[in-house]
Amino acid sequence: MLCKCGFCFTPEMLAKTKREFDSFAVINDKAYQRFLKRELEVVATGNGQDPDAHAHAVARASAHVGSIRVCPKCSRLLFLRPGTRAGEFYREVYQKEEGTY
Ligand SMILES: [Zn+2]
Repeated sequence: MLCKCGFCFTPEMLAKTKREFDSFAVINDKAYQRFLKRELEVVATGNGQDPDAHAHAVARASAHVGSIRVCPKCSRLLFLRPGTRAGEFYREVYQKEEGTY
């Protein structure tokens, strides 16, 4: 995934312990209660007894999570809405304004 400045957010960067950029999880307020319910299912199935049930719970919860990635080169914000699947290139880009409020 490329920023407009050319910086590339590669999947390998997400796997690194020390990321080269900041990334934030985003959950739509309208889906927050459903997300919490799914997260509780993740916790409840995380005991290792049923790995398939746990994987399904993680998948259901993560469907409610998007992200905001901060470009380390130009400070643009790349917004991936919840429900955006891996490999999709749809994103919204926001540019930092000068000055403070
Ligand atoms: Zn950039």
